[in-house]
Amino acid sequence: MSNPGEKTPANFIETIINEDLKTGRYGNRVHTRFPPEPNGYLHIGHAKSICLNFGIAKAYNGLCNLRFDDTNPSKEDVEYVESIMEDVRWLGFDWEDRLYYASDYFEQLYQYALKLIKLGKAYVCDLSPEEIKEYRGTLTQPGKESPYRNRSIEENLDLFERMKNGEFPDGSRTLRAKIDMSSPNLNMRDPVIYRIQRAKHHRTGNTWCIYPMYDFAHPLSDAIEGITHSICTLEFEDHRPLYDWFLDTLGVECHSRQIEFARLNLSYTVMSKRKLRALVEKGYVSGWDDPRMPTISGLRRRGYTPESIRDFCERIGVAKTNSMVDIALLEHCVREDLNRRAPRVMAVLNPLKVVIDNYPDDQVEWFDAVINPEDPESGTRKIPFSKVIYIEREDFQENPPKKFYRLSPGKEIRLQHAYYIKCVDVVKDQQTGEILEIHCTYDPETRGGWSSDGRKVKGTSHWVSASHALKAEVRLYEHLFTKENPEEVEEGQDFLVNLNPNSLKVLTDCLVEPSLKDAKVGDRFQFLRQGYFCVDKDSKDGMLVFNRIVSLKDSWAKIQKNEAGKQE
Ligand code: ATP
Ligand code: MG
Repeated sequence: MSNPGEKTPANFIETIINEDLKTGRYGNRVHTRFPPEPNGYLHIGHAKSICLNFGIAKAYNGLCNLRFDDTNPSKEDVEYVESIMEDVRWLGFDWEDRLYYASDYFEQLYQYALKLIKLGKAYVCDLSPEEIKEYRGTLTQPGKESPYRNRSIEENLDLFERMKNGEFPDGSRTLRAKIDMSSPNLNMRDPVIYRIQRAKHHRTGNTWCIYPMYDFAHPLSDAIEGITHSICTLEFEDHRPLYDWFLDTLGVECHSRQIEFARLNLSYTVMSKRKLRALVEKGYVSGWDDPRMPTISGLRRRGYTPESIRDFCERIGVAKTNSMVDIALLEHCVREDLNRRAPRVMAVLNPLKVVIDNYPDDQVEWFDAVINPEDPESGTRKIPFSKVIYIEREDFQENPPKKFYRLSPGKEIRLQHAYYIKCVDVVKDQQTGEILEIHCTYDPETRGGWSSDGRKVKGTSHWVSASHALKAEVRLYEHLFTKENPEEVEEGQDFLVNLNPNSLKVLTDCLVEPSLKDAKVGDRFQFLRQGYFCVDKDSKDGMLVFNRIVSLKDSWAKIQKNEAGKQE
């Protein structure tokens, strides 16, 4: 930056960074990191953190590292590491050659721990985990000092080395920082910094049987990487004094500034990886990438674009207080993006057969249809019309209520891009009364869907030609939970009681226009009047499978309009 600190701050974090640039606290450097724990797939909340960390680095010509916070061997997995890298890349961010693992620092962290012991600032404690908890005290009561607190430096060095060498059973001893058992901040009451745990680590294997705690590993990993601004979520605010204590006590060269922001909560969604993992493991969803999941991989499979997710993250901004964001905003963002770029096609989800009695038996006409009216460059496609077509079952009613403007006996409607048709007969199953097909006549003077005599119709329907249409399966989704805040439950219940039993509806007899024959997995379309859809990986030869990304009904835009109306 030519003028340090002169960027107009987009949020309170940038205000702090500007200040640091002015005072030269880190020279002219801005260096952030995104530090996921590889114990699950990333979700939309992580996207907020990714956009923030990589976004700030970009805005200040700085750098952002990807660092796996893999200090807890029992819950971590390579599968998660790979998915996280894929998701960050897909979102459009690049860590270049700065991919790090906290586990790469195990030796350095061990050396830092030795240094703390030598400074008289850490000790080996033989209290059990339960006892440690008991001794810690509460918010209103000071803690009690461990009887092992005043071991000599020599004894501590000896015991800690033997902990490392595997001489003691799991959980029998810990290394603790020696700070202040009467501190009003519980995190400062001699926190555990190393534990004994015989578990195979996904990268270091069985090399270590002691593992550093997050609160110790994190600030030092930041210091090792030269991170200037360590951005994390609000629940770490109370840990900041400890973060600073480690860096000050050890006198590291780069003392990063921890800044906390409010995590994203989204309505009708749970976000913690533990809960998402429960959904996967208990089979409530088909996997981490189930299109109903708020995971990045789920959103990707559903058909969300990276652009729409970045736009969403930009719009929600960053704040210091927790709040709940309306999921309708996320849907609005993808709708807006796809409105600009998704090709329009006709697809009939619940087909009703229509025979056009006065149309020549073997005739086929090919109409030109605009691919995307929002995109003048998009051009046109050909759609075939013939004697037998299908329309949406709900677009016909034999005994229509008053304001029904679609097809009914004796009524005329427009077939989009084709002709006006009028219903002349209804064929029903004698036994069940189910409508099997309807018969219509078309008006040859309305070619293209416009009447030369100025005659108007109120309804326009989408349709496909029976002999040309392709078969498709369509999956319609509702929110995964019925409650705005799924965590709100009665005593003794958990969030699973709020699962929406109707979150997935599968339609297997759908028909789509033949221009979709070359559609590939991940391609997105607007199905006229039905919403935006994405080709799913379950598609097979002869059977396309589509996920509905969102319907066309924009409840967010409606809310905004009403709000604006109120303010006028
Ligand atoms: P979870 O509770 O979902 O497991 P976590 O915070 O334990 O989340 P990490 O892998 O430790 O998950 O998170 C990596 C980064 O993403 C952290 O900096 C964390 O603060 C941030 N993050 C996690 N969840 C959210 C969220 N809902 N909103 C914003 N940032 C988040
Ligand atoms: Mg975590």
